[in-house]
Amino acid sequence: MLFTPQEYKIKDEPEVPFIDKQEILALLEEFSHPTTEQVEEVISQSLSLNRLSMQQVSVLLNSCSDYDHRKLITSAAKKLKKEVYGERIVIFAPLYVGNYCINNCSYCGFKASNKKAVRKSLSDLELQQEVLELEKEGQKRLILVYGEHPKYSPEYIAHTVKLVYSQHGKSEGSDRINRVNINAAPLDIEGFRVVKESGIGTYQIFQETYDTEVYERFHLSGQKRDYNYRLTAMDRAMAAGIDDVGLGVLFGLGDWKFDVMALIRHTNHLEACYNVGPHTISFPRIKQASNSDDLVLQSVDDEDFKMLIAILRLAVPYTGLILTAREPIALRNKLIEFGISQIDAGTKLEIGGYSDKSEGQDIHKEQFELSDNRTLEQTISELIDQGQIPSFCTACYRKGRTGEHFMEFSTKGFIKRFCTPNALLTFAEYLESYANPHTKEKGWMLIESKLSGLDGKQREDMEGKLDSIRQGQSDLLL
Ligand code: SAM
Ligand code: SF4
Repeated sequence: MLFTPQEYKIKDEPEVPFIDKQEILALLEEFSHPTTEQVEEVISQSLSLNRLSMQQVSVLLNSCSDYDHRKLITSAAKKLKKEVYGERIVIFAPLYVGNYCINNCSYCGFKASNKKAVRKSLSDLELQQEVLELEKEGQKRLILVYGEHPKYSPEYIAHTVKLVYSQHGKSEGSDRINRVNINAAPLDIEGFRVVKESGIGTYQIFQETYDTEVYERFHLSGQKRDYNYRLTAMDRAMAAGIDDVGLGVLFGLGDWKFDVMALIRHTNHLEACYNVGPHTISFPRIKQASNSDDLVLQSVDDEDFKMLIAILRLAVPYTGLILTAREPIALRNKLIEFGISQIDAGTKLEIGGYSDKSEGQDIHKEQFELSDNRTLEQTISELIDQGQIPSFCTACYRKGRTGEHFMEFSTKGFIKRFCTPNALLTFAEYLESYANPHTKEKGWMLIESKLSGLDGKQREDMEGKLDSIRQGQSDLLL
């Protein structure tokens, strides 16, 4: 019997660990030979914009060995992506604030035992310079990233977030960062309260792997060795009023199908306890890092990676999916259509890397190697060629459409109504203020072509707003 999420009830409690390895393995086993009817039934649930149950996700994961089933899944994911998110892709940049770390995650260049790592935390002035550089390029959304260290206390994190918001180049509304997300070690509830007050957007943290044994093998010492403290981080964030959270797995550590199931289990947990699912899910694949140990990895090849993304797209239609510059350019361009809604662009991993104009990467200064070193402008130019609208939109956050409230909009398919127009407006603003003449010309052609897809009233309204942007107005959000 294939239950929907409504039928497959979860009885979780806040802050109580919820991953049961045997339950996940049993569900993967139960649907190990799915029929085409089952695959179609699951897909139709998803295309009706319903989140899938773990049983239904197991059907999809077990379909990956069958060519025809794979085709059904990838075409459905493409359709869903287009219907829910439209042809827009949200752009952000990571900003590494400090790489001191007390932990020893064997895969990471920042681990405490890596004596070759060049350690640094940005001073206030350096942080301001980094932000100015990012603003000059046209970035509007950042994610601040920190190692795990007593230096990076909740007060310090809050201070850096406030500093970023307060830094703007030109004038209110144009050269400024509008949304600051953070990726930082788990805090206690009081710590999360301090960080929440600084006005963060999403709190993001990756479990790395949900398989307890694999987790133990890769996390050799430090606070991060405590699997359950990390697992319940989002519960404490929620208790502190942060209702906008981002989950993730570092793929390559454990079995990818197990970890996809666990991401859905984590989603169930958040919905059961807080009536809100994750805002985003990330799926970094492991990369070479400075001084990384001889790791026994369970690599995820490109075909499996594509399936993983397509299945997540179908499993959680309302959740944003993030693909980072860890992946090579051609693959990134291809994977966007299977469900990606956010990418980083113009990324520098080196601490202070946006202000430092010297060429090339130094692996001892970075957490891992990047595969996409394009500038923001180059990335935007290629997105335009693919017919994707680059979006710098931060409207939902600024208009209070987050958490439970945000889900109301997104689950009923309202994303498209707000997101496409906002994407067009913020993209137009980017073209007017930051793009080179060639990008500007083809960008406006893209906007014109997308306007033709809007209905009469909405189109008229948009044309008026776009004219105002051409005349120098900014920040016209819906
Ligand atoms: N220190 C915090 C933590 O561990 O959660 C936050 C920052 S950490 C710098 C951000 C993420 O980078 C980690 O959660 C991990 O998934 C990812 N990462 C670490 N080493 C990596 C590697 N070698 N390749 C790809 N991603 C890596
Ligand atoms: Fe430190 Fe995070 Fe790297 Fe682990 S992944 S070593 S906690 S920076």
